[in-house]
Amino acid sequence: MRSALLFPEFEPGSPDKTEEKADVFDSRLVEIHSRLLAFYGPPKPRVVWDPLKQFIYSLLSSRTRTEVTFEVVAHLGERFGSWEALRDAPVAEIAEAIAPVTFAEKKAVQLKQALEQITARCGVLSLDFLHSYRTDKIRAWLERFDGVGVKTSGAVVNFSSLRRRALCVDSHHLRVTQRLGLVPKSADARETERRLMKMVPEDWSAVMLDEDHQLVKTHGQRLCTFSSPRCRGCPLLDMCPTGEKAVPSRKG
Ligand code: SF4
Repeated sequence: MRSALLFPEFEPGSPDKTEEKADVFDSRLVEIHSRLLAFYGPPKPRVVWDPLKQFIYSLLSSRTRTEVTFEVVAHLGERFGSWEALRDAPVAEIAEAIAPVTFAEKKAVQLKQALEQITARCGVLSLDFLHSYRTDKIRAWLERFDGVGVKTSGAVVNFSSLRRRALCVDSHHLRVTQRLGLVPKSADARETERRLMKMVPEDWSAVMLDEDHQLVKTHGQRLCTFSSPRCRGCPLLDMCPTGEKAVPSRKG
């Protein structure tokens, strides 16, 4: 495999189980998942993409509404016809094509650079070779690209056809889990994912983790919003320290 030869430190391996487990299992995440599932119903099944398309989507998605990013990625496919043509287009043209996403000019530079670097490192513009590598190695490799952090690497490994165990912690996930007291307010996305994975049952599949991500994101969009959480109607109120302060009449 050409990629393995290019990256001797990036040895292939079977999917791993690297998450730490708490001595005493904390069941709050499972309870929250169960309540949100009952409240919102099952999320729509995900259309699973190959790792490269998911990478492009995730790179463009930060601070941008989901529907907008979907439209932009669909537009890129129609406008350029191939990811190679997108890679070879001038930055200004890419910026124009992705204009509806936030920070389009910066993301255009990052996207073009990433596509060029993937081609240079792998010989082809594809991330399919990642299927044979360990999850932690894949994430570390992806996070070398400018603009790719733990959220994007988590999305690529969990949402794409790689379908590995990971929790994609976006801004909604961060806010909701902090308000619920599952993680400290100082925790960033990496620390939040590390702590939450300790609360995930070992038998939860990648698809279950994706479902958890979607449920918490939906909760953050509909009830536990950034500016005005609607705690009175929240199915998690009795287990939420933030909500209990906001709605004191529910105490006792
Ligand atoms: S009770 Fe309020 S702060 Fe807590 S999760 Fe629900 S909406 Fe968010």
